[in-house]
Amino acid sequence: MNNPCLSCGACCAHYRVSFYWREAENNVIRAELTVAVTPHRLAMRGTERTTPRCDALLGTIGECVSCAIYTARPSPCHGVMPSWHAGDADAHCDRARAAWGLPVLQPTGPDAAPATADLSQVA
Ligand code: SF4
Ligand code: SF4
Repeated sequence: MNNPCLSCGACCAHYRVSFYWREAENNVIRAELTVAVTPHRLAMRGTERTTPRCDALLGTIGECVSCAIYTARPSPCHGVMPSWHAGDADAHCDRARAAWGLPVLQPTGPDAAPATADLSQVA
């Protein structure tokens, strides 16, 4: 089934992805992929920038992407779902796609009802 995330990646280059520091230890996220943003919180490196893009994002946004640490990705990455994955629009997904000039996903049509959320098929 078509997974729109694999030809998108917009949310990985729109939001700051920050999380409690211990997640990086528990998930075994390489230190060079994170940056401290407060004494107790890390962010995925690159997402803290004015023009964010996660350093773990591989590929070209809007064309073909994957997450280099998909199985270890931190909790915020689990929170954004492609719109209509669960029957409703996802505001974070819609906002990120719009910011990248991509059309928001529709409840019907070739981009609808993905089997899984986000970048599950690592290249
Ligand atoms: S959740 Fe939405 S914005 Fe994020 S990669 Fe998937 S389709 Fe793109
Ligand atoms: S899903 Fe992967 S590439 Fe996207 S923000 Fe999370 S860690 Fe980065």
